[in-house]
Amino acid sequence: MKNDLIIKELESIFGKDRIKVDQNLSFYLTLRTQTKAQYYLEAESREDWVKVGQIKASKKIPIFIMGGGSNLAIITDYINGLVVRNLYQKKEVIAETEDYVDLLVSSGYVVARLVIETIKEGWGGLEYHQGLPGTVGGAIFMNSKWAKHHSYFGDQLLYAYLLETNGEIKKVDHDYFKFRYDHSVLQETGEILIEAVFRLKKEMPQVLQKKAQEALNYRSETQPKGIATSGCFFKNISEDIKLRLKLPTTSAGYLIEHAGLKNLRVGDFVVSSMHANFIINEGSGKAEDLIKLLKLIKDKVKEKFGIDLEEEVVVI
Ligand SMILES: Cc1cc2nc3c(=O)[nH]c(=O)nc-3n(C[C@H](O)[C@H](O)[C@H](O)COP(=O)(O)OP(=O)(O)OC[C@H]3O[C@@H](n4cnc5c(N)ncnc54)[C@H](O)[C@@H]3O)c2cc1C
Repeated sequence: MKNDLIIKELESIFGKDRIKVDQNLSFYLTLRTQTKAQYYLEAESREDWVKVGQIKASKKIPIFIMGGGSNLAIITDYINGLVVRNLYQKKEVIAETEDYVDLLVSSGYVVARLVIETIKEGWGGLEYHQGLPGTVGGAIFMNSKWAKHHSYFGDQLLYAYLLETNGEIKKVDHDYFKFRYDHSVLQETGEILIEAVFRLKKEMPQVLQKKAQEALNYRSETQPKGIATSGCFFKNISEDIKLRLKLPTTSAGYLIEHAGLKNLRVGDFVVSSMHANFIINEGSGKAEDLIKLLKLIKDKVKEKFGIDLEEEVVVI
């Protein structure tokens, strides 16, 4: 559905051929849900983000930001407004001592690549995120984690540059993000991460590689591979609830498994037999089937444990 005035304006800002209309997003989503964007842009630089900021400030059309699409469950066939996929790539050492480097990384940088490169350089702090899909922007937005060693992506963040809702860029420090489990302040403010600066400790690459391998081994032992999924679908429960209900773990996967829901299927969406918190799209799963499956899971877990599961993935 094309609005000629909007498309003309977007083309005048970003240049012809950069704005796609009715773009299929399925390929950019690891869960492979079928959905289209009314307007679609790939942001490749800080300058692109400044322009996106101007559109955001004008409030003429809604804007949605995508990183690697690995934590998204889009349950609508059509997204109105502009979807911006972040392909901004930049990495630069901006300070260095004998003990550490301060590394500026753009928000579109792919985490897997960043982890491999920092290990190779002997810069420690991100190694447990080996195997984490997605971009730096998504990982800061979610404060993504490797739960086994309580290692959170925001831990090494020193400061960052954000695009405010009025289109201005501002510098904020680590504390601004109010990081906690699966949470950063970006989820409250709607601000967009442009660049992040991490302080990384100098260590032997072999030591870092060993830790990264531990994370990779754990993933391959516990998570299904080569499938369409958005990772863990629901948040783990709090330590308080675990203790109150005398449960052996905080794992949402445990609750789903012990509610007897492994292999539960609606259409092409199925609960993984290996990790019950992973929902897999085995074909071209329809939004309505995913909605039904989520409701079944939540209802059964509530019935068995009295717990309301909360989505970890961003559901749109
Ligand atoms: C196989 C698999 C394994 C996974 N393992 C883990 C794991 O071990 N630990 C874990 O925590 N997660 C895990 N995940 C979930 C997911 O990979 C992470 O949450 C990841 O950090 C999301 O990054 P993304 O770039 O893909 O974000 P997206 O899915 O593209 O976006 C997620 C949210 O972040 C917002 N966003 C993205 N970029 C920006 C930005 N620059 N500024 C502001 N907002 C932004 C989006 O608008 C959206 O609301 C896994 C997923 C899969 C598929």
